[in-house]
Amino acid sequence: MVNETDLRHLERAVELAAAALDKGDEPFGSVLVSAAGEVLFEDHNHVAGGDHTQHPEFAIARWAAQNLTPEERASATVYTSGEHCPMCSAAHAWVGLGRIVYASSSDQLTGWLTEWAVPAGPVRPLPVAEVAPGVPVDGPVESLADRIRALQARFHGRG
Ligand SMILES: [Zn+2]
Repeated sequence: MVNETDLRHLERAVELAAAALDKGDEPFGSVLVSAAGEVLFEDHNHVAGGDHTQHPEFAIARWAAQNLTPEERASATVYTSGEHCPMCSAAHAWVGLGRIVYASSSDQLTGWLTEWAVPAGPVRPLPVAEVAPGVPVDGPVESLADRIRALQARFHGRG
């Protein structure tokens, strides 16, 4: 169940994805929010430099491990423009973070990339639930899907 507060944080995640694209990076953005609703950390993809582990959800997991107690991590929520990849789902679960809310699903992204004949990446796009079954997950949010599809289309030269 995605509420108004969730949508506000998802909106920021999509803005960060757009900012990444404007800087020549892949359009993914994520926000870490405390149980009290405070934005603790936000980031976007930094893979353009060649390190393809520089996903924002992975950065959030590392930041949370270094800066939050286990209780704070478990009660925090990660909002993200695109569903976590398996690497980031694993990092999220290993550091004990709480709920994930994503705007678009890995399934949607895979469908778009297939439609545009983009070659498959080296990692299978599994849903969060298959990698981290204990993490509560909400998404996708259909009202944001077209914008994310447009960002991906631009990145892949289909926009
Ligand atoms: Zn990832």
